[in-house]
Amino acid sequence: MKFTVETMITKEEIEKRVKELAKEIEKDFAGKEPVCIGLLKGSVIFMSDLIKEIDLPLSIDFLKVSSYHGGTESTGVVQILQDVSFDIKGKDVIVVEDIIDTGLTLTYVKQFLQSKGVRSLFVCSLLDKPSRRKVDLKGDYIGFEIPDEFVIGYGLDYAEKHRNLPYIGKVIPITE
Ligand code: 5GP
Repeated sequence: MKFTVETMITKEEIEKRVKELAKEIEKDFAGKEPVCIGLLKGSVIFMSDLIKEIDLPLSIDFLKVSSYHGGTESTGVVQILQDVSFDIKGKDVIVVEDIIDTGLTLTYVKQFLQSKGVRSLFVCSLLDKPSRRKVDLKGDYIGFEIPDEFVIGYGLDYAEKHRNLPYIGKVIPITE
C-alpha cells in the first residue's frame, strides 16, 4: 500500500507529555521500587524516554506479545512470545504500552501478570483510542487520546517499518 504521513503529534509535544507522565508516576510511586514492563516492540522508544525522567529506583523488563500480524486490524488472539525475565511476585508493576486500541491485548496481559502475584498493577500508554474499545479497560497513565486513525512513529510500526519516526503520524493511503 502506498501512503503519505501527516503529523498528528509533534516530537516536542511528545517530549513535554512524556515528562509530565514521568513526574506523575514519580509522585504516585514515591517510596516504592516499581518494575516497568514494556510490551515489545512498540513501547521501546516511549519506555526509554519515560524512565529517564522518573527519579526512582525502578527496574525494567519486557514482555513480547503478539496480537497483530503485520496488518492494521486486531485478531483478538493474544500469544505470549517472550515472558518477563525475573520474578515479579510482590512487585509494583507498571505495564508500558504504545497504544490501547480494542483493549484486548492489555486485558490479557493484565490477567497474565496478575497471575504472577504482583502487589499492584498499573497501565501507562502513550496513546489511547477509546472509541475502538471492545472491552472495559482503562489506562492509568495516558499520554494522548487520539481518534480512530492508524498511526505510526515513536515506536509504532506499519509492517515493521517507521518505528524510528520521531513523531506520531497518521497514515493516509494513496489511491491511484
Ligand atoms: P489492542 O489489543 O488494544 O486492540 O491493540 C493494541 C496493539 O495494537 C498495540 O500495541 C499496537 O501494536 C497495535 N495497534 C493498535 N492501533 C494501532 C495503530 O494505530 N498503529 C499501530 N502501528 N499499531 C496499532
